[in-house]
Formats: sequence, C-alpha cells, structure tokens
Amino acid sequence: MRVHLVNPSDLSFGTAVITPRWLYVLAAATPERFGTPVIVDETLDPLDLKTIERGDVVGIGIHTGNALRGYELGRLARERGAFVVFGGIHASLFPDEVREQGRAHAVVTGDGDLVWSKVLRDCESGAPAADYEGGRIAGDAFVPARWDLLPADKYMWASVQTVRGCPKHCSFCSVWRTDGQQPRQRHVDAVVREVVTLRRKGFRFIVLADDNFYPVTLADLAAADRRTDKSQLASLVALRQERFDLMAQLEQLPKDTVFFTQITMEAAEDPEFLDAMRRARIRGALVGVESVTPEGLKAIYKNFNEAGESLVDRLQTFRKHDLHVLGSFIFGLPTDTPKTFDATADLAHRAGVTFAQFVMLQPLPGTLDFQKWEREATDVPAIDGIPLTRYWLIPNSRRPRIYTPHPAMSADEIRLRTQGVWNRFYALGAVWQRSSCVRSIRSRLAFVLISKLYRQMYANTGIATDSARVARSAKRARLLAKIARRLFMSAPMPDLAEPAPLRGRSEATQIPLRVVS
Ligand code: SF4
Repeated sequence: MRVHLVNPSDLSFGTAVITPRWLYVLAAATPERFGTPVIVDETLDPLDLKTIERGDVVGIGIHTGNALRGYELGRLARERGAFVVFGGIHASLFPDEVREQGRAHAVVTGDGDLVWSKVLRDCESGAPAADYEGGRIAGDAFVPARWDLLPADKYMWASVQTVRGCPKHCSFCSVWRTDGQQPRQRHVDAVVREVVTLRRKGFRFIVLADDNFYPVTLADLAAADRRTDKSQLASLVALRQERFDLMAQLEQLPKDTVFFTQITMEAAEDPEFLDAMRRARIRGALVGVESVTPEGLKAIYKNFNEAGESLVDRLQTFRKHDLHVLGSFIFGLPTDTPKTFDATADLAHRAGVTFAQFVMLQPLPGTLDFQKWEREATDVPAIDGIPLTRYWLIPNSRRPRIYTPHPAMSADEIRLRTQGVWNRFYALGAVWQRSSCVRSIRSRLAFVLISKLYRQMYANTGIATDSARVARSAKRARLLAKIARRLFMSAPMPDLAEPAPLRGRSEATQIPLRVVS
C-alpha cells in the first residue's frame, strides 16, 4: 500500500512560488511502515494516474479554488482501486459534497496532523471510516514538515508555520472560523529547526505562513489588564513573549536569510514588535488594508484598521521600520463608488506599499459574507443544473466569476476598474521607481521581475474571464517563474548549525511590556 499526497491544480507552472506545506506535513505524519509517500503538487506537474495502484491511499487536500480538480482526481483514483481520502478547508466545510463529487472513502475535517496515521491504519485494514475529526490541535502538536522530500529546483520560497488561528472576525475571511480565534503558537525550537533545515537546502526566502503573525495587540493587553482576573493577561503576555523569543532566534541565522509573513495593521502601533521583526529580518508582510474608508471597513467588520490619512501614516510606519508591505485591497464593498478605485490607487502610492494586490469581493465558502449571500439569494440561476451558490462545481470553461453583488456597480464595471488599478500600480515606471527600496542593480532587477510575476500570476489569472487569456498569462508566468527562482535561491549550507536554544535566557533579555490603555 503506497501513500500518495496530491495538491490539485488545473494550471501547472513547472516552478511554483511557495512550497505547499501541508503535503510535507502529512508526509511527516505518515508512519514509517507505510514507506515514503509519493508527493504530487499539480502546480508543478499534473498527477500521473499510472502511479496509483489498487489498495493505495490517495490523500487530496482541497480549498474552494481547486475543489473541482480535486474531485476529478478523487474519482479517477477510486476507479484505479485506491482508497480516496479528502482533507483541507473545503473538505472540512462540505464533507457530504466531497463524498458525492470526489467519491471519497473518508473525509478528514480540521487539522490532519494527528489523525492522519489513524486514517492510514484503517485503510490498511480495508475499512476506513467515513469521517475523521482532526479538530484544532494545540500548537505544540503541529507536525514539522518533511523537507527532505522536497524536489530540487522547483520552489522559490519555503514556508514554515508558526501560529494557527486569528482572533479577528472579518466577514470575508474563513480563517477565524476554520482555524479558530484562539492563536495556537508552535514551540520556538520546533519552528527554528524547520527554518534551519530549509536554509541548509539553499532557501533564503522563507514565508512564515501564518494566519496572523501578530496575534496579541497592545490593545488586547490593555483590555486584559483592566480585568480583575489577570489570568487572561498572563496568557497574552506569554504568547507575546514567545513571539519575541522566536524573533530573537531568527536573528541568529545567516544574514542573507529573510522572512515574509502576514500581520494586521495594529502592529504599526507596536514599535518594539516592529524593531524585533527588523532584527529577525522579517522584511515583508502582507497587511490586509482592504478598504481606504471607515464605512468600507465597518461593512466587513474590520474597524480595527485605520482609514484615510491615518492609514497612510500606519503603512508608512512599517516602512520606517524597514518592513516592506504587500497591501491587500478589496474592491466591490457595498460602500465603494467609482471614485474609490482612484482613491485606493493614490493611497497605495502615497503610503509607500512595496507590493499590492487588488481583489474583488467574493462570497467565499466558510465566511459570513457567503452565508449572507446564500441566504439572501432568490431565483438562483443554474449552469448545467448547478446553482450559482455552488459555483465551484461548475466546469472551469463554463464557470462565471462570482462576485458579491454591489448595490450600484455591475461586476463588469468593478472588474474593469480593478484591472485599471492593477495596471496603474504595476506600470513599469511605477515598479522601477519602487525598486529604489533595494540597492544593487541585481536586486532592482529581481524586484521588477517579481513584481511582474506577481501581477501575471494573480491579476491576470485571477481576474480575467477569458480562458485563452488565462492560458497565455499562465505561459508567461511559467517563463518568468523559472528566471525568478534563480534570483531567490542561495548556495546550500549543509553544515549550518541550529542557534542555541533559548532555555536559560536571562531576565535582561525579556521584552519590555508596554501596556497602553
Ligand atoms: S482577514 Fe486577516 S485579520 Fe481578518 S480574520 Fe482573516 S486572518 Fe484575521
């Protein structure tokens, strides 16, 4: 019985940007007696079905975007006599759909790290259960990935997870509902060990693939401090201290190693945290700006963000601390007007964000927005008998892009205006101007290349509706990705030692706690 782990994708680029971490985590969670799993990432190359034999186990991880391809693979694998097991966010949300469409023998909901070995044992005995509840495991139970199985020369950036869960509750996001609102942080030593393994292999760009790298804000600490019962404060202080401990360890790694993560804008109010990020060479972060107006932020339950000039100020604070921001903006909020597009493009420019993505508001399964959209939808049109409220089941060639309806603008108008903002932000002159944030010509060229690649991969394939255009765009992205990869890799350092563990750290190195009220 061989174990196959498959990341489905309709498009294969030959080279991918970020390592799909879950494949290597489940490979590590596979007991030794089942042999080394066969890992297939279809963003590199399509699955070769001939490798699947009767009695094998095929584990397929899906999110909404690749669910249909995943279902196709599930059916094909089952035809070849394999046990088919699905997991991932979409499988956790729609286990019955997965069974029906993907012909799954079993569906794993929640975290797969611990329950995977039981799934395999049951398949081995020929009787897998229909459901496995992986739950939300504690941070110290996260399984470290088996990076020794990573194919050579395929990925640009490696990924390590340090925390799961986000305490916020944005209406368009499913993370807090699937991963929970309680931050589950991994032990510092476990994270550092993985980072060192990856640096030894030559990865010097590492993504800290977290829901929110800044899970405890100064405002959270102040609120906990106002309570009579101080237990909440103590646990928040401990979480915050662990973040600083982690960053102190990352600081010890070779100077050419840099990190990228995802944080909320509130981190800009916390200079100690930003300074620690700079020392740890966390050089960039995706910041969910979403909207430039207070009304827009209120509509998506993201009032903790700033708007207008204070937003510019916040974003510039990141730059002052040497942190490059990938600003994420959403268009199509009910409060948006045609003027919002230019205002957003201007703000992104003035705020000095290094990269930006402009996405259209979509009702994504697992979110509050989806629930509302589904509840309020009447006379839902269908394509090939599939209602649009299950749009991900419509074949790609016939699937319309589904966006949250706007009270005044059509989806086409929003799409055209959004495309215009991408064009403006990623115009060659603008990119070259922004590239002055790095010094050498080689770095500036790398900056231009990655800007163009980013745009190619996400703007054109993400917003374009015409399939020929998507295919052309994918072809260009494939070429750019190959060139870009060379710029991101470094010489392997097989003898790199792990930094000494933090145990015994003196009180003097503890971070100062500044609670604001
Ligand atoms: S959008 Fe970001 S801040 Fe909001 S819930 Fe999702 S992960 Fe948390």
